[in-house]
Amino acid sequence: MSESKSIHIAIVGGGIGGVVLAIALSKFPNLTFTIFESRSAFGEIGAGLGFGANSHLAMKLISPLIWKNYKKRASFNGWPEKEDVWFDFTVGEKGEGWEGKRIAEVKMEDGVTQSTCHRAHFLEELVRLLPEGYDVQFNKKLVGVDQSSEKVSLKFADGTESFADAVVGCDGIRSATRGFVYDDPKLVSPRFTGKVAYRGLVPMAKTEAVLGKEKANNRHMYLGHGGHVLTFPVGKGMMMNVVAFADSQSDTWEGEWIQPLQHESMTRDFGHWGESVVKIMELIQGPDVWAIFEHPEVPSFHESRVCLLGDAAHATSPHFGQGAGMALEDAYVLSNLLGSCKSRDEIEKAFDAYDSVRVPRALKVTAMSRKQGELLDMKEEESGDDLEKIASSLNKEVRWIWDADLRAHLKEAVEVFEKSRS
Ligand SMILES: Cc1cc2nc3c(=O)[nH]c(=O)nc-3n(C[C@H](O)[C@H](O)[C@H](O)COP(=O)(O)OP(=O)(O)OC[C@H]3O[C@@H](n4cnc5c(N)ncnc54)[C@H](O)[C@@H]3O)c2cc1C
Repeated sequence: MSESKSIHIAIVGGGIGGVVLAIALSKFPNLTFTIFESRSAFGEIGAGLGFGANSHLAMKLISPLIWKNYKKRASFNGWPEKEDVWFDFTVGEKGEGWEGKRIAEVKMEDGVTQSTCHRAHFLEELVRLLPEGYDVQFNKKLVGVDQSSEKVSLKFADGTESFADAVVGCDGIRSATRGFVYDDPKLVSPRFTGKVAYRGLVPMAKTEAVLGKEKANNRHMYLGHGGHVLTFPVGKGMMMNVVAFADSQSDTWEGEWIQPLQHESMTRDFGHWGESVVKIMELIQGPDVWAIFEHPEVPSFHESRVCLLGDAAHATSPHFGQGAGMALEDAYVLSNLLGSCKSRDEIEKAFDAYDSVRVPRALKVTAMSRKQGELLDMKEEESGDDLEKIASSLNKEVRWIWDADLRAHLKEAVEVFEKSRS
């Protein structure tokens, strides 16, 4: 095998980010990969995921088959007249002349600008697109990385060791790989955002009976002071996904990040809201409560031949629904750069070029998302609970994320890479 055909990448983590990266790398004849996943099989939680135009474009650019398969499982807005509506935003709190007040109907360029999907369905479709005979090792929990030799060594909790030319940590928000990229512990650990999210899936027939067909089948967001609730159809309209964000009782978070059955606290946070929100809360039978964390700003996503992608690199609060979308964009850029490497010696240059475009965009999305959370909870500094100001921001901010020209984004990274080679 010639040098150019022998770059082997270890992908740590077989979630959406890791599997998409594997599909993307498999297009390039100079690259091989192994996925190391800590679980015993590929798997995702039972919850919905939203994608915007930028994420759709990243799917298409990585492989048209991702988009084709995704579309088979995704839900777009239920009603034709709502096809181009991102979300209908109304006031969800109680109060005469306040409850149910229309804030904004944010329109998109066309009906495929936003979609939603059950996470497990998307991962299933992605796994189908891995190349024949792909290399995956389950029950491999990464615990150590050593870059002191020619090959990078990966150590696993079961005592085994493996080697690769480079490592891409796609191991999520609590990434172990991250600990081998940053020396400063403050950069390694995610920080609590002070918000929690109650999440649940409700069968559509039940939802329609309680909320009516329009509210059940289209994307809605109910805003109030200190919280907001969003609902959208998933599973080809068979289920409604609910995510209700509230301020936590404390600035710090103790215990598990995902906890089951929190009816009491959900009632404390939303029981006094308006009729629609109270009905939505009653529909959720076994809501999980998620503590929302995000990563601090970092100067780079790599250290020598160890790089980060997706939540491992830049976990964001989910107020623009962009975490998995950013992982798709990362995979598009990184795979093309690695695919251009003529030898192992160029891997670090490829990682530098990846950093040059991905760090600014991912960190900006994380900061924007934090601000969006405040906006939706009616406590953003400039808009507070002024519905006109909220509407104006809702109509504007998200478009910078959606409208990204990803081809130009990659071109910029390739130019940085080419320059560093000359
Ligand atoms: C409430 C909420 C709502 C969200 N909504 C959206 C949305 O609408 N749209 C959107 O785009 N994003 C959304 N996100 C973000 C999205 O869930 C994440 O960005 C996405 O799942 C990240 O994928 P990933 O592959 O990087 O990480 P993960 O999905 O976390 O996958 C990591 C994988 O690595 C494995 N792993 C972990 N540690 C190790 C180890 N040491 N060794 C080996 N393997 C390991 C795990 O088992 C897992 O399979 C939301 C997040 C939250 C919390």
